[in-house]
Amino acid sequence: MAENKIKRIGILTSGGDAPGMNAAVRSLVRSGIHAGFEMYGIYRGYKGLLDGEISPLGTRDVAEILHIGGTLLMTARSKEFMEKAGQKKAKEMMNAYGLDALVVVGGDGSFRGALALSELGVPVIGIPATIDNDVASSEYSIGFDTAMNTALEAIDKIRDTSSSHERCSVIEVMGRNAGHIAFGVGVSCGAEVILIPEVKYDLDKDVYKVILEGRNIGKRHYIVVVAEGAGSAIDLSKKIEDFTGIETRPTVLGYLQRGGSPTVRDRIMASLMGMKAIECLSKGKSGRLIVVKNGILKDIDIAKGIAEKKTIDAKELEKTKALF
Ligand code: ATP
Repeated sequence: MAENKIKRIGILTSGGDAPGMNAAVRSLVRSGIHAGFEMYGIYRGYKGLLDGEISPLGTRDVAEILHIGGTLLMTARSKEFMEKAGQKKAKEMMNAYGLDALVVVGGDGSFRGALALSELGVPVIGIPATIDNDVASSEYSIGFDTAMNTALEAIDKIRDTSSSHERCSVIEVMGRNAGHIAFGVGVSCGAEVILIPEVKYDLDKDVYKVILEGRNIGKRHYIVVVAEGAGSAIDLSKKIEDFTGIETRPTVLGYLQRGGSPTVRDRIMASLMGMKAIECLSKGKSGRLIVVKNGILKDIDIAKGIAEKKTIDAKELEKTKALF
């Protein structure tokens, strides 16, 4: 393998924030310095790269951030970077700061940006971090476990009041195009109904009838978990109450799910993924995405990774009805 020319590495977080992004930055900075690289933080994602918001990060600069949610590097969306001219300017800005490589912590959109830079000759590595867990090529994205646990904690509380009043609760969780949060949380809170964007549903058969059957076998409360991309909790609540006569209340969990201290799983995944990214750059590998496949941490070609598709099989959702 050719001698590694990479000396200085920039890190940015991009797209929606996710708990564990800070843990990933800490891991990158510390393992990068340990491997002999100089590490730089780029603030506000690609926007900050274009604006030159770049400064060195030492091991002590990332102290006390492992447990903090959000991203201390901040995140922003950049339209300018979507254009070829913006991508060229980003490369020039990296040259101006002497950055030889870039690690992008974010979701699929951010990796499309990283691929564009890679095609301009910039060594890049992507680390999946998005609460939706919708990076197709990886079984896991940093932030997913924390978001599910946050949603679950809230639903457990809603269940108490729902049970006391013998109500139906419709809880809307995040996931515009992906139902991974709704599926995971729905199974773990014992929801009667789980609605996700990947699987079509029929209100009569999949919602009203299920709730009424529950009532007829003696259930005292009913929980419907709906991903935001599969329907609105407010809308559904009204329809359920009108049809079944059961008092129904909506709750939209919203941004609550984004925040909070990362769970053990997210801290471990962020730490391991950060180390793996540095291991790649140390070996002179770039244009890679760090992913989990069959439970194993790997690096794959970023272009191939972006091209992959993942979905939730309708049969998997169907099977959960055995838990009713
Ligand atoms: P999340 O899943 O949390 O939304 P994401 O990384 O998919 O994360 P996006 O908003 O899609 O979030 O992308 C973040 C940034 O990446 C955009 O603001 C833009 O600057 C850049 N980006 C997205 N798509 C592309 C693309 N096709 N080409 C170049 N850059 C892109």
